[in-house]
Amino acid sequence: PLCFARNQIIPSSEATLHPMDIGLIRGYGIFDFFRTENFVPLFLTDYLDRFIGSAQKTYLPLDFNKETLRNIILELIEKNDLRQGGIRMLLSGGMSDNHFSPAKGDLFIFCEDLMFPGEQKYTNGVKLSSIEHVRALAEIKTTNYTFPVWLSSNWKKEGAEDVIYHHNGLISESSRSNIFVIKNGEIFTPDQNVLHGITRKRVLELSGSIKIQPIGFDETLAADEVFMTSTTKKILPVTRIDDRQIGNGKPGKITKELIQAFQEMEQKNSG
Ligand code: PLP
Repeated sequence: PLCFARNQIIPSSEATLHPMDIGLIRGYGIFDFFRTENFVPLFLTDYLDRFIGSAQKTYLPLDFNKETLRNIILELIEKNDLRQGGIRMLLSGGMSDNHFSPAKGDLFIFCEDLMFPGEQKYTNGVKLSSIEHVRALAEIKTTNYTFPVWLSSNWKKEGAEDVIYHHNGLISESSRSNIFVIKNGEIFTPDQNVLHGITRKRVLELSGSIKIQPIGFDETLAADEVFMTSTTKKILPVTRIDDRQIGNGKPGKITKELIQAFQEMEQKNSG
């Protein structure tokens, strides 16, 4: 496949990053990730806005504006014949004089195979392991996932799909997904210490009455339904947190309705 690196479209195998880039030695960089369906990059403007916003918030210069990025992406989709796939934009922290200050990094855009959760996870729901944690710079899509990658060895041992972070009694999100909680027919999602997911945004649009407010960890355990959202998971039911069953232990009615509505919206957008 082809990618964008060294300011041009080149074979992916020829993309390189200097080992002293602070993206690597300090874990300082930003990225974003979206999907194509039927050759259409879904909700691309939202992802481009978030990527450009992440660069600004991390003081990383990005020499490409939204329209240039869009054109590179469309060219990659066409040349790679990417009917259904993932696209990752990555901006490294750069080669810094003092090996610490943000510098001018390298931009990479590359195409990937998608890894969707298996169908069974949607019919049975998944388990999350809870952990007391609050992410730094949660609203920026940084490349630093050291903590959850480290945690993942443990949550896999516990049979969990992922983690749910909570802090001071309030939940925030999962390691790569946002969380929604349903109680007595009302849907809630937190806003503090979370990445503003593009899937989360779409779900908020699907149901105009979702309440954006702090949610207790205890309330989450006592919820009727819980689900998580992300670009690759879409809407995935959560039926267990640690040793606690959520609701009746099966994907709930409202979650299933939203999964259906999301699918219809996606089909409309991919033509
Ligand atoms: N929260 C975090 C920390 C993430 O890394 C991600 C996505 O990777 C999300 C939430 C979900 O965001 P999106 O729906 O845009 O994929």
